[in-house]
Amino acid sequence: MKRLQGIAASNGIAIGPAFLYRVELPDLPVASDVDAAAELERFEQSVSAVRAHLDAIEERKRGQLHADNFEILEVQKELLADEEYGGQIRNRIEHKGLNAEAAVHEVTEIVVAEFSALEDEYFRQRAADVADLGSRLLRNLMGIADVDLSGLSEPVVLMAHDLSPSDTIGLEADKVVAMCTEVGSATSHTAIVARSMGIPALVGVGTIDVSDGATVILDGNEGLCIADPDESTLQEYRSRKEHDEERREKLLRMADKPARTPDGVHVHCVANVGGLESARSAAKRGADGIGLLRSEFLFLERSTLPDEDEQYAAYTGIADCLPGTHVVVRTLDVGGDKPVPAIRIPKEENPFLGHRAIRLTLEQDSLFFPQIRALLRSAADRDIQIMIPFVSTLSELREAREKILQIHESMKAEEIPVCDTPKIGIMVEIPSAAIMADVFAREADFFSIGTNDLCQYTMAADRTNAKVADRADFLDPAVLRLIKRSIDAADTAGIPVAMCGEMAGSVIATPLLLGMGLKEFSMSASQLPEVKDAIRQLNSSECRPLVEACLDCDTASQVRGILQDFLESRLRRS
Ligand code: PEP
Ligand code: MG
Repeated sequence: MKRLQGIAASNGIAIGPAFLYRVELPDLPVASDVDAAAELERFEQSVSAVRAHLDAIEERKRGQLHADNFEILEVQKELLADEEYGGQIRNRIEHKGLNAEAAVHEVTEIVVAEFSALEDEYFRQRAADVADLGSRLLRNLMGIADVDLSGLSEPVVLMAHDLSPSDTIGLEADKVVAMCTEVGSATSHTAIVARSMGIPALVGVGTIDVSDGATVILDGNEGLCIADPDESTLQEYRSRKEHDEERREKLLRMADKPARTPDGVHVHCVANVGGLESARSAAKRGADGIGLLRSEFLFLERSTLPDEDEQYAAYTGIADCLPGTHVVVRTLDVGGDKPVPAIRIPKEENPFLGHRAIRLTLEQDSLFFPQIRALLRSAADRDIQIMIPFVSTLSELREAREKILQIHESMKAEEIPVCDTPKIGIMVEIPSAAIMADVFAREADFFSIGTNDLCQYTMAADRTNAKVADRADFLDPAVLRLIKRSIDAADTAGIPVAMCGEMAGSVIATPLLLGMGLKEFSMSASQLPEVKDAIRQLNSSECRPLVEACLDCDTASQVRGILQDFLESRLRRS
C-alpha cells in the first residue's frame, strides 16, 4: 500500500485502475546485423498504423465540440506522407544499416532541430508536432500503445506528470474517473478541468511511483491517493465514496432552487465554462448563467484561427444552453505559458509577466476584431457581455473599449444586427487593478474578480508550482483586502461585481464573500450545488461581522480557523 499526498484540487472519491500517461519513451533498441528489407517493411507498417490511428482520432473528434480542433493531426498526416521525411528515413535504413527505430529517431531529431531554428514563430511551433509524430512512429515500432486520452475505453484514474489543455480535450468523465498529477496547484489547468468535469483530482503529489493498472483510491476531499490498498482500506473508501455520492446526489436534486439566504439576499450562482459540454453540465447543475466563458477553447489544437462565423456559432450555441440568462465571454486570454499554435508569440523569459491576454490581442487586430465582431453579433438578441482579461492599466481598458465601440459603430453602419450598447467589463486579477478599483469602476461596466491570478500576483507565487501553492492562498489577508476593495469600489460606482476565480466555488469562502456583499459567484459547474446549498443556510447579516474579523487577521490560517468555526456552527451536517 502506497500513499501519495498532494493538493486537493477537485472534490470527491474515486477508485479505479491507474492509467499512467507517460509521454517519454523507453531507450531505443540497439540493433546489429540489420535486415534492411525487413526494417523497411516495419517502417512502412508503422506509417500505415499511425496514419490509421490519426484518422481514428480525427473521426472521433469530428462529432465533438472541438470539431475544427484537429488541425495538428492534419499537419502530422501531411508530414507522414512527406517524401523528404520518409525518404530520409528509408535512406538511413537502406544505406546506413540503421534499424527502423534509429532511423526514425535520427531523422525526426534533425527535422525538429531545423524547425526549432526557424525565425518564424509559427514554424518554430511546428517542431512540437514533428516530435510528436516521431514518437507516435517509435511507439508503434516498439509495440507501445499510442496514447490518446480521448479514446480510453475503460474507466481509469489518470496519472501524469502534468496535463496540458490539448491532453484533456475530449476527456469523458465516465472514462477518466479521477486525475492525479505530479506537479500543479489548485488553480492549474488540471484542477480546473477536473472540477469542470466533476471528477476528483489531486495535484502536486511529487513523483508518481505507481504501476500501470494498480488499484488506486483517489480522495479529492482530503488530498490523498492510495495505491494498492489493503482490503480493509478499500472497504472503508468504498463506503466513504458511497456516502459522498449520496450527498452529492441530494445536493444535485436541489440545485435548481434559487440561492437565497434565509434573510432574503438573492445570490446569482453562475458557471465558469470552457466549451459546449461544460455549458450543458452547468445548465444541469442549476447555473443562473455563465459568469466566465474561457474563449481559449476555440483556439487550441489547431493551426489556423477560428473566423468570425465560427466564433459566432460557438458563443451563441453555448449561450443557448442557458436561455434567458447572461453570459460573460472573456476575450482571448493566451500568451506566455498558454501557447496557441496559430498565434506567433516569441518565447519569453518570464511568461507570467509577459506579453499576454489583452496586451497581446490589442496589438493583433486579426485576433481582436473577429472575436469582438462575433460577440457583438451574438449579443444582438442575447445578454452576452464582453470581459477583458489581465487588465493592469486604465489605458488598456480605454483602448479596448474604444476599439470595441469603433467595431460596433462600423457594424451598425454595415447594417449587421448587433446589440444596442456593448457591455464591457474587466477581470480584476492583477493587484494594480484591485488597488485602482475605484478608478476602473468609473469606466468598466462590470467587474469580475479573478482570484486565481490575483493570488498569484499578490503573493508572488506561481500558480502552477506545487512548492509555493501554500503561499497562493485566497484567504491570505493581503488578498482579502484587495477583494474587499474591489467589491466596495464597484458598489460605490453602482456597477455589478462578480467573482470568477476558484475562491467563488469554495464553501470555506462563502460566508466571507456573502458578508462582503458579493451577489454573483461564478464557479466550476460541479461546485454549484454545494455552494448554493451553503448560501441557503447562511444569514447574510450574520456573515457581515466576519469581514472585519478576517481582514484584521495576521495570517491565512487564522482566517481559515474563523471561517471553519463559523461554518461548523451554521451548516447542517450531512
Ligand atoms: C482567474 O485568474 O481567477 C481566472 C478566473 O482566470 P484563469 O483561471 O483562466 O486565469
Ligand atoms: Mg486569470
